[in-house]
Amino acid sequence: MTNPQTSGLRLIWVYPDLLSTYGDQGNVLVVKRRAEQRGLHVERQDVRSDQPIPATGHIYLIGGGEDRPQRLAAERLRRDGGLTHAANNGAVIFSVCAGYQILGHEFVNDLGQREAGLGLLDVTSVRGGAERCVGDVLADVDDHLGLPQLTGFENHQGVTHLGPGVRPFARVRMGNGNGTGDGTEGAWRDRVFGTYMHGPVLARNPQIADLLLRLALGAGALSPLNDQWFDALRTERIAAATREA
Ligand code: GLN
Repeated sequence: MTNPQTSGLRLIWVYPDLLSTYGDQGNVLVVKRRAEQRGLHVERQDVRSDQPIPATGHIYLIGGGEDRPQRLAAERLRRDGGLTHAANNGAVIFSVCAGYQILGHEFVNDLGQREAGLGLLDVTSVRGGAERCVGDVLADVDDHLGLPQLTGFENHQGVTHLGPGVRPFARVRMGNGNGTGDGTEGAWRDRVFGTYMHGPVLARNPQIADLLLRLALGAGALSPLNDQWFDALRTERIAAATREA
């Protein structure tokens, strides 16, 4: 893998035509901007579902989607193989909701059938009960990641069970997260992350964007930024969620 400091940071947004609900595109904007503010040259590539996924990206972002686009995306990603190559090359992958389910071993598609995922995360998703998981979420991120409280918005039918090959990304204080009733939210291992949080989640939690950048750069710390507007958004959303509760 090339050094993003010299080659430029290659930021890949996977399938914006199929997987980008509830403002997930904002995740791309946040990573790009925060990298540029640290003086990095960023090459953003939006890869539509009829295009091959390059295996040479440094950071890949995948959003959420409705059930049918999710099935189409899974079919094409399996056939393409680029994301799996990228993961094997040590790329950082951050996925949301439908994207998260696709990174797992399998999920239940819009036809009610089990659909294979990419197996990049040791998780399996099934259909939940009659009630969708919808609403604001507050959660404490895994201590290993050293991140502040997670704020986001969830809207999903799927319920995701974690295997021994991943750790929960967070534990919910409010909301459902993985929907298993055990309080877990999302999953991660090494450089691959999945979460149910929309929002967009990286605008609500810019420290996660910085974590992705640190992993891609192999950097221990990044120069601090003026996060006044991010902080105001966080405060507002956390207060609103707490009021709703
Ligand atoms: N279709 C999936 C579900 O309902 C994912 C939804 C989403 O990405 N918001 O579980």
